[in-house]
Amino acid sequence: MDKPTKHTILQQYFGHSAFRTGQSELIDAICSGRDVLGVMPTGAGKSVCYQVPAMLLPGVTIVVSPLISLMQDQVAALRDAGIPAAYLNSAMTGTEYFRTLHEAEEGRYKLLYVAPERLLNEAFLEYACSHPLSMITVDEAHCVSQWGQDFRPSYLKIVTFIESLPYRPVVSAFTATATSEVRDDISRILKQENPFVLTTGFDRANLSFSVMKPSDKYTTLKELLAERRGRCGIVYCLTRKSVEDVCHALCLAGFSATRYHAGLEDDERRMNQEDFIFDRKTVMVATNAFGMGIDKSNVSFVIHFNMPKNLESYYQEAGRAGRDGEPAECILLYSGQDVRTNQFLIERASEESELSDQQKEAVQTQERARLKMMTYYCTTTECLRGFILRYFGEKAPHFCGNCSNCNTQFESVDMTVDAQKIVSCVYRLAQRNLSFGKTMIVDILCGSKKERIIQMQLDSLSTYGIMSERTAHKTRVMLDHLTERGYLDVSDDAYPIVRLNQESARLLRERPTVTILLPKEPTRQERARRQDSIDGEDMILFGVLRELRASLAAREKVPAYIVFTDASLRVMSKLKPVTQAQFLHVAGVGERKAEKYGAAFCTAIAEYIEKNGEEI
Ligand code: ADP
Ligand code: ZN
Repeated sequence: MDKPTKHTILQQYFGHSAFRTGQSELIDAICSGRDVLGVMPTGAGKSVCYQVPAMLLPGVTIVVSPLISLMQDQVAALRDAGIPAAYLNSAMTGTEYFRTLHEAEEGRYKLLYVAPERLLNEAFLEYACSHPLSMITVDEAHCVSQWGQDFRPSYLKIVTFIESLPYRPVVSAFTATATSEVRDDISRILKQENPFVLTTGFDRANLSFSVMKPSDKYTTLKELLAERRGRCGIVYCLTRKSVEDVCHALCLAGFSATRYHAGLEDDERRMNQEDFIFDRKTVMVATNAFGMGIDKSNVSFVIHFNMPKNLESYYQEAGRAGRDGEPAECILLYSGQDVRTNQFLIERASEESELSDQQKEAVQTQERARLKMMTYYCTTTECLRGFILRYFGEKAPHFCGNCSNCNTQFESVDMTVDAQKIVSCVYRLAQRNLSFGKTMIVDILCGSKKERIIQMQLDSLSTYGIMSERTAHKTRVMLDHLTERGYLDVSDDAYPIVRLNQESARLLRERPTVTILLPKEPTRQERARRQDSIDGEDMILFGVLRELRASLAAREKVPAYIVFTDASLRVMSKLKPVTQAQFLHVAGVGERKAEKYGAAFCTAIAEYIEKNGEEI
């Protein structure tokens, strides 16, 4: 038999016919004995970069991975593809642990996933020092850096571990973190020697981005989910409380939803996570505590019920959609309240930290600046993808054609008169020595009958109700536009207050023309067009194959996407392979999988064709 190459391994075990950007280069560097640092966005395919070399290198590869669930998932997927892999972590009983270690000693495994806190364990060290290790791979490598979002002190043990080995294996590290501070930290702390550093582009072409500013988030969320029934998705909320509320509301409305946040008991958290991973529940409502290390490839949308605190977090969370390369959606539901909640959280986080006052001040300033950029993202009318990529320091197009701004037709609306009314209102209030936040100002302009307004006799203002022909929502959009354009200031307080500035005075005096870009409402037809890319006939077969996959997965006790991804099933529904050879052409089908599942799928497809006669 021919010597295996990176290409034959990729094809034979993983069923992919070509490498993605960056994978080849990283694999070559590793195989030539060089340390590497791979920086790729979530879903780009980092695992292949160390799993393929692990199969080519003579000895064992140790993979350090932060989360037990991540490890178990990866090992299950590798074994299913015919790759000898195992894990060692604290969730195992002593018997399991020593049995696995014993099997490793017998040379049964090419890949061994180990939790960082286990590395310096006596039995494990003894094994590591007396068996040939080819490589140490550090997954989620930003966990070694204090600047990273997920610093884990146990990651510092990795260096001690490497230094206690009789000889030094290749050290490869992978992360999706974009900041250069963290990247430098990783190589320095892991003491990588002249590493080959590769950063691939951060663009994820299969993801579409949208921002919505609904007046009622609950209603909008339910509409969005109803349009996406049967697909898997994550709904991120900013606080535990809103996870509870949103999940409750969705369950009441009959959606298959579950919840996840750090305040739940371990058992419930684990169970809910599994319900989602095994497709028993299709919607996961969670705080940002959910997701790291969850390699669920068929997440077809990520909806943010609240705006997160910065674009780093947003892109990481949104990036959990579409890891299978299928078109997937990232939707953010924005409201002004989100800005205030985030400001509050930033202040509270720094109060609780052990930094000096000066450090706290510095951290807060940085966090506020990031929050401001996040807010700009939500309010810009530019291409959203372009905005994100430029934020991460990449060149980007000004039109991507796959985000809500590129796809929305904006119309330029003259709001000169409205601008006069709004600024006059703030002016009249100032004359009475009063100042308020945006909500109150909108209420006054629209003539709200709220108790507080009547009590304070604000209904006697000459500007009370002068915009009552507008909805509160539209008035708010216009007020936001004026503050974004600098015609009014907003204070930096926990409850930001709208204030006059020089530009406000100029606006009242000179009456400049003010225009605003407002989205045209999409037609019903346009909404309908956003549906599936596979047509009706194939869709039925897709359903049949999904059921087959579910029963095979249940038999093997693995999540469905480990058997085949949705992407592979879609290709099968289109190609309709009925022989083993045809089956091997499906992306994501390697030899081992064809052997294992080919017959079942080919039979199901043949039966389907027969039943549906000649037309196919
Ligand atoms: P990351 O760790 O970078 O977030 P993964 O390693 O989990 O990403 O890979 C994401 C998805 O991309 C997986 O479903 C994997 O099967 C797929 N993938 C990886 N490499 C390739 C490739 N060369 N061709 C096609 N699909 C690939
Ligand atoms: Zn765009």
